[in-house]
Amino acid sequence: MALDILLLGPPGAGKGTQAKRIEDDHAIPQISTGDMLREAIASGGGLGRQVAPIVERGDLVSDELIVAVMRDRLERSDTRDGFILDGFPRTIPQAEALDQMLDSIGRSLAMVLEFELEEDEAVDRLMGRAVEEGRTDDDPDVIRHRFVVWREQTLPLTEYYTEQGVRVALDADQSVDEVYEVIAAELQQRS
Ligand code: ADP
Repeated sequence: MALDILLLGPPGAGKGTQAKRIEDDHAIPQISTGDMLREAIASGGGLGRQVAPIVERGDLVSDELIVAVMRDRLERSDTRDGFILDGFPRTIPQAEALDQMLDSIGRSLAMVLEFELEEDEAVDRLMGRAVEEGRTDDDPDVIRHRFVVWREQTLPLTEYYTEQGVRVALDADQSVDEVYEVIAAELQQRS
């Protein structure tokens, strides 16, 4: 059975770091919409030019656009045994679209891991990353705006997945190794 996992939580909670570890241990791909959009922007094509100003402001690109991108991505053969989603879905309509996509191939999410972290701590982490990686959306004003967007548009997913009975809450205010230990134990029960 495919292992389809979703990572939820605020910006800066450490989803990308943990997704890479899961990818290494379980041979299923990490699919990060943020990475995909940044690659599209860097390559300078039509999609990149369309989304660049939106990403730079810290707003969400449209549901239609990101759902189309994800539909293509999830059809690739490397997702056959499962995937780790990081950054999608970010809105209720995106979550509904994902459910439909999975339903149509007879699959469903094995687990939604929600990374819980105080906003102040998350902002501190992002400020550190801004210095290290030079992401244009890691500017202090844009970071604050991304949190507003996250609270308004993405936080409702907590209830959505709680109702589905697939949500597992995780204390993300621990070291990378400690967080991964908890994730590994949860995964062991499901694979
Ligand atoms: P964060 O570090 O805030 O979690 P990501 O790297 O996941 O950010 O995403 C960076 C930006 O890419 C977002 O602020 C948004 O503009 C865009 N983006 C990523 N995923 C989505 C999505 N599912 N829907 C709409 N926009 C998205």
